[in-house]
Amino acid sequence: MLNIRSIPHVSLSYAGLLAVSSLALLAYLSLHLHLQTGSSPAFVGFVLFGIAVAAFGFPAPHVGYVSLDRVVQFASILIFGTLQAAWIVGIAAFIWPLLPWGNARNGTRLMFVRALHNSGMMVFVILITGGLYQFFGGDVPLLRLVPRDVLLIIMLALFMQLLNMLFLAVIAWLENYDWRKAFGFFAAVVDLAAIPLAVFTALVYNRLDSATFVLFLIVLALIVLIVRRLADTRRALETKVDELVAVNRVGKAVSSSLVLDELLELIFRESRSLVEFDTFMLALYDDSSREIDIRLHHNPQGRQPQRRQSLGVGIMGWVVSHNQPAFIRDWQKEGSEFKRIIIHIGDTPQTQSLIAVPMAYRERVMGVLSVQSYTAGMFSQSHVNLLMTFASQAAIAIANARLFEELEHSRNELEQRVSARTHDLAEQKDELHALTESLRSTNREKEELLLRLQRQTLEDGLTGLYNRRYLDNRLGIEVRRAERYKRDLALVMADIDHFKVVNDRFSHMVGDDVLRVMANILRAQCRSIDIIARYGGEEFLLCFPETSRENAAAVCEKIRRQVESYEWDKLEPGLRVTISFGVAAAPPNYAVDALIAAADEKLYAAKHSGRNRVCA
Ligand code: GH3
Ligand code: MG
Ligand code: MG
Repeated sequence: MLNIRSIPHVSLSYAGLLAVSSLALLAYLSLHLHLQTGSSPAFVGFVLFGIAVAAFGFPAPHVGYVSLDRVVQFASILIFGTLQAAWIVGIAAFIWPLLPWGNARNGTRLMFVRALHNSGMMVFVILITGGLYQFFGGDVPLLRLVPRDVLLIIMLALFMQLLNMLFLAVIAWLENYDWRKAFGFFAAVVDLAAIPLAVFTALVYNRLDSATFVLFLIVLALIVLIVRRLADTRRALETKVDELVAVNRVGKAVSSSLVLDELLELIFRESRSLVEFDTFMLALYDDSSREIDIRLHHNPQGRQPQRRQSLGVGIMGWVVSHNQPAFIRDWQKEGSEFKRIIIHIGDTPQTQSLIAVPMAYRERVMGVLSVQSYTAGMFSQSHVNLLMTFASQAAIAIANARLFEELEHSRNELEQRVSARTHDLAEQKDELHALTESLRSTNREKEELLLRLQRQTLEDGLTGLYNRRYLDNRLGIEVRRAERYKRDLALVMADIDHFKVVNDRFSHMVGDDVLRVMANILRAQCRSIDIIARYGGEEFLLCFPETSRENAAAVCEKIRRQVESYEWDKLEPGLRVTISFGVAAAPPNYAVDALIAAADEKLYAAKHSGRNRVCA
């Protein structure tokens, strides 16, 4: 489907077409019907009246622009007749938007769209409504009110309103505005309320003298002024309330963040909902370096890099050092001290208007917030007030966030210190541990050494059997124990037979080997509780606790046979070794020396009775 609105300049063309066609129709009708221009001062006066009424209109909150222009439009019909009314209203509607205090600020294009559209629309509306009024026999000029005329006026006023609204809806749609606003209730009520005033105006003009009419106009002007003042106050109040609500909301929003970077972003976003701008800058003041740190810089090209500048440069530094807002409505017209210190106010030479407010908390300037516009006159004092309020709230939030950051910083530092200390302690603990370990192993070595030395003092080096020193000690203990518990104890003295011959025939070394083998045989045949010791050269002393004489003799006999049958040839061919035993036992005699002597005696007996035997 063809989208009419996408055609370039469609609304301007439509407005132009409307104006030209209405002018053509009006001119044609004027010529064709031989329009008699009445009094030209009255004509000019009414055109001016129309312009003045529009100029005295006021922007009503939420409904757009409201004026009493309907008074002039309808009264003109009732005074001058349809054709002349169309000229008056058309000319007034064309001129008004072009005047400097009209809507010229909104741009040239819109200004022409309004002038062309409104004049064309009003000419058609007046021609149709007035034409119908006169067609149905309405009085022109209206001199008195008869019920028929009243009824006709009411009908046509409603019809006129409807036509007006339809035209407005079309142009609003073409301009991409909300066309439904053309059917606004408030504007319709004001326009319809103007109808009785229009009729009254016509009656006063038509019936009374011109001085009275002028007086009437003055009264009318006063009424409009009063209404306008009331509307202005109401609008200002509503705007103020809107602003306060907005500031309150964004104030709350920004205090929700404790992370500084996030907070600054939030301040930027929320500022947008308070004031329209092209460029936004937010700088924090760095006390130590006396610099301002531009943390956020946003312009129509997008986000600009963060940077620092000294306090003496630019307006933001001025705001920080003076703790005062800077407000430049129009840089071209500005004659302030800023022109001496800087070349242009904003981030680019395009900037025409600017507000920069300090963000101060308890007299301490935390930073500065600046909004800039490429259009002159974009900001007003109320914007300054609004941003001041906002900036003071932002300052509190920034102070809080900074405090929080400092706290976090010290917390981290403390944690680091604690962990470093813990690390040191752990290292010291490790060192201590290593030291203890080495001490312990040294101790172990010492103990082993001691043990070895001890053993050396208790053992016989050649055979590993206990030596005599140990035996003297131990024998005393064993004998006393046996005595106390009335236990058996056997003591055996053993002596290798003709050992001297072994040494002589084979060698001393072989003799040593024989001693070692003999020790092994003795160890193998005895229990762990038995004590085997080398008593002297080739003599052994065996102590058998809990053993009777007979049992001890039996063990000795077993050992004797083992020695006899041992394959001594393995050591040295022709080698023969035997051993003799003398067995003594307690009780009844629990004396070490007596026991040893007894065993010795028995051994001596064994030797003398032929050796290689056990004597018990
Ligand atoms: P008997 O049957 O009467 O006991 O005769 P014997 O030769 O065994 O007795 P004697 O006491 O005359 O000789 C003991 C010899 O033992 C004397 C000595 O040289 C030898 N002897 C003592 N201790 C050792 C030793 O540690 N190693 C060696 N190879 N010989 C030793
Ligand atoms: Mg001997
Ligand atoms: Mg011997």
